[in-house]
Amino acid sequence: MPELPEVETIRRDLDAKLRGARVRQVEVRLAKITSPKGREFVKKLRGTRIREVKRRAKLLALVLNKGIILIHLKMTGQLVLRHHQQIIFGGHTIVGAHELPNKYTHVIFYFTNGDELYFNDLRQFGYLKLMTSAAAQKILDEYGLEPLSRDFTLEKFAEILKKRRSGKLKSVLMDQSLFAGIGNIYADESCFLARVRPARRAPSLNRKELRALWLAIKSVLKLSIKHRGTSFNTYVDSQGQAGNFVKYLKVYGRGGEPCKVCGTILKRTVLAGRGTVYCPKCQH
Ligand SMILES: [Zn+2]
Repeated sequence: MPELPEVETIRRDLDAKLRGARVRQVEVRLAKITSPKGREFVKKLRGTRIREVKRRAKLLALVLNKGIILIHLKMTGQLVLRHHQQIIFGGHTIVGAHELPNKYTHVIFYFTNGDELYFNDLRQFGYLKLMTSAAAQKILDEYGLEPLSRDFTLEKFAEILKKRRSGKLKSVLMDQSLFAGIGNIYADESCFLARVRPARRAPSLNRKELRALWLAIKSVLKLSIKHRGTSFNTYVDSQGQAGNFVKYLKVYGRGGEPCKVCGTILKRTVLAGRGTVYCPKCQH
């Protein structure tokens, strides 16, 4: 699933291209993907204008002159923007990205400037929900601290971890009601960088470890955004180019391979229902 850096990368791309774009027509090919369903969604969107594209946690928000569309890509959602000769691609996989529309295309936005935005989703768990700004805000308010916002202070971070008496560190980091947008990849990477094991009880971290983890989360997310994320791909003129952060991953997806720092074989375990990798020597 795309996490904060991947969704933020899509947000930046779309915001740069779609600000001010007016919707000429919308085609919904699979009614269950949108809310309201199918025809009603189309009717309400025709003629609206995109003011800006925002992100909260792993959600994208297309802010319109009338209402907001909340978009969640879930496991296999993709957003592909055709802008002049350029194809800008964001999402989890690259299935069928060369052919637009394809059999996984469920919604298409046609803009008056000629741009087209495709929502593709192989497994159909993603969604586009059109709602009032107030209703959208209510949903967005349920998410926890944005790790790259000013609100994410060391004091608040420490306070949240201390309160989670029974929680394992990784589960706490991935709890979207506490911290917004951190998933499997960045939880593992942050723990490695901070040299703490993801299975530790959250309140057991001392002051030095808390500070190291707080800094690690921010730096891992920032570095990933700089490299356009991990599970993110950009296509320009159909030349495939993967999100570059993959080569910076220290532990994620590397169970059984040697630690890039000390050479010890990385251990794989399951935490919060997700595969988790750590170095038994570097992390305590
Ligand atoms: Zn190591």
